[in-house]
Amino acid sequence: MLLRFAELAIGLYDQTLLAEGVGITFVQDAPQLKLSEAICQICGEKIKEGVVFCRRCRTPHHQDCWEYNGACSTYGCRETQYMRPQSRRAQREQKKMARSV
Ligand SMILES: [Zn+2]
Ligand SMILES: [Zn+2]
Repeated sequence: MLLRFAELAIGLYDQTLLAEGVGITFVQDAPQLKLSEAICQICGEKIKEGVVFCRRCRTPHHQDCWEYNGACSTYGCRETQYMRPQSRRAQREQKKMARSV
């Protein structure tokens, strides 16, 4: 009985974490996909670098193409905010900056 309550509480906690993650621009856990297979829908080219993801539908785009298009290329989505996967190096740089302030 007690164990069951604990499981429930953990489940709720997980949901809270997920809900809080919705508004962030930078994601540390980039959507899992093989970048070599990601195709930009705007130019039709494979995305090797400079990838950004639609905040709504997680469709990968070149950052340049997204900015040219001004929004998500997916029909009916038209999200204007994108997420950029944060590299480990960028994370370290941020930590360094935080410490020096
Ligand atoms: Zn492109
Ligand atoms: Zn989209």
